[in-house]
Amino acid sequence: MPPDESYLARMHRIFSGVQPSGELHIGNYLGAVRNFVALQEQYECLYCIVDLHAITQPYDAATLGPRTLEMAVGLLAAGLDPSRCSVFVQSHVPQHTELMWMLGTVTPLGELERMTQFKDKSARQESVPAGILNYPILQAADILLYKADRVPVGEDQLQHLELAREIARRWNARFGVVTFPEPQPIVSRTGRIMGLDGQAKMSKSLGNTIGVLDPPEAVWEKLRPSVTDPARKTRKDPGNPEVCNIFTMHGALSKPEQVAHVAVQCRTAGWGCLDCKRLLADNMIAELAPVRERAAGLAARPERVRAVLAEGAERCRGLAESTMAEVRDVVGLAAP
Ligand code: SF4
Repeated sequence: MPPDESYLARMHRIFSGVQPSGELHIGNYLGAVRNFVALQEQYECLYCIVDLHAITQPYDAATLGPRTLEMAVGLLAAGLDPSRCSVFVQSHVPQHTELMWMLGTVTPLGELERMTQFKDKSARQESVPAGILNYPILQAADILLYKADRVPVGEDQLQHLELAREIARRWNARFGVVTFPEPQPIVSRTGRIMGLDGQAKMSKSLGNTIGVLDPPEAVWEKLRPSVTDPARKTRKDPGNPEVCNIFTMHGALSKPEQVAHVAVQCRTAGWGCLDCKRLLADNMIAELAPVRERAAGLAARPERVRAVLAEGAERCRGLAESTMAEVRDVVGLAAP
């Protein structure tokens, strides 16, 4: 008898990485982490705090460790359950960098130079570190090390995932064996959450975020002056919710009937943007209340968080070593 659908679904292995930016913000939460929580119920999920990626940009070495732990607290508080998924730190599994080196031998330089993120980041620097160029090879290694076949991604990461697929194809063709599956994207259905300034993606370094652990008054203080549809210069001007970041967040946080009501009120200038933001703030505060409560409990027990990360890394090192044994053999390295 063929296995049923739910059994087949569990056969998929998911990998996703999160930067150790410290504070988990509402953009991460709505765009990615809430989806991670749903996926752990259906699939085998590996969630990695990618500290080795973080050091390719200017950063403060003294705060990297604490930010990594803080991110772990945020992820667990948001609902990642160590009994249903593995949460770990990239640098605690050294095979990530070993595989990166191997994959670099089949990755064309031209593909790396074509990456939009490389062009953006290198344009802003006088001397470009090779780490920025090689970043997508490490991303490919993160995924392929676990032979993950599904990767939750935002639209902005699709190009990097396509490169990981290309690297897997080139590797398999070069050595004539299917070592790696080609990972498929699971694209988030949440619209792109912009920063509160409306200028760029929400990012802690740009100071345009709402933290998932912010107290209710801070949520409102940050949301109140945030950018909306620029066409609504006065209270009487009708707006277009489709171009408004507040509406995108309503779509992710408010009930469907509230979202429909917001759209009508916006288009008819039935209410002002502050009314609209107040409803959003109330829904956001209600959604985040249990997350804040769990985070306070975890922050009081950092040894518990470290233990979760250690367990996750131990399990992942086992999976990683099994792939690397195969990879070293395929490459033809002499056994020690
Ligand atoms: S009413 Fe709401 S959706 Fe419309 S522009 Fe203002 S904040 Fe945005």
